[in-house]
Amino acid sequence: MSRSVLVTGGNRGIGLAIAKAFTARGDRVAVTYRSGEPPAELLGVRCDVTRTEEVERAFEEVEAAHGPVEVLVANAGITRDGLLMRMPEEDFDAVLDTNLKGAFRVAKRASRGMMRARRGRIVLISSAVALAGEAGQTNYAASKAGLVGFGRSLAKELAPRNVTVNIVAPGLTSTDMTAALPEERIRQIVDQVPLGRAAEPQEIAHAVTFLASPEASYITGAVIPVDGGASMGH
Ligand code: NDP
Repeated sequence: MSRSVLVTGGNRGIGLAIAKAFTARGDRVAVTYRSGEPPAELLGVRCDVTRTEEVERAFEEVEAAHGPVEVLVANAGITRDGLLMRMPEEDFDAVLDTNLKGAFRVAKRASRGMMRARRGRIVLISSAVALAGEAGQTNYAASKAGLVGFGRSLAKELAPRNVTVNIVAPGLTSTDMTAALPEERIRQIVDQVPLGRAAEPQEIAHAVTFLASPEASYITGAVIPVDGGASMGH
């Protein structure tokens, strides 16, 4: 069964891997992008998730092309790392506005159609840092931990309508986001990973497509770590 899938921030990194994984399963996949061009094989809709009117327009475009969104993956995210003592308030706000409130904006818009259809799947991309914490990432960890409370509350709100909401918490994954980290820092992080390496974006995508699959029909409000064992015990 082909479904209408929307992945935010799906033009590169983890989001692109997720979009490709759904495409390979035969779904009709749209991705949001902000700059550049989206991959040719995907429907790209320009959208900054910090702008409510752009979110509305993106959903209208996707609905016109693919029908109401049946699977939403809230993946768009940024980092603005720095120690709290030196963190400008704008960096805290920007990360919360994109990572947490961006998910609020798209999930709210997607919920409308899913409630009407009495089915749907929402997957929020959080982070292993949400539960374990990380020095220099108070803003990012707060936003990603916020997604857990947000997602679990939404899971309870939407369960009577047969809509599941789950949270995927990736560990260090090889993308542009982590390419910016110094090699020494990457080595330190990988040293804490029982499987001894970073994830490939496709490995995150597999967890997401599973949560959106019929096989995951009884899973909601779950936080699934995909982190090589790094956050065990959190
Ligand atoms: P990238 O930096 O490679 O990609 C980020 C994506 O988010 C891009 O498509 C970017 O669009 C999009 N994006 C950022 N801000 C906005 C915005 N305001 N509106 C719309 N789109 C936006 O990151 P990753 O692929 O590594 O990360 C994807 C998700 O996974 C993020 O939520 C991240 O926090 C999370 N994550 C990543 C980990 C990692 O180690 N890489 C670990 C744990 C979680 P554009 O190209 O236009 O900038």
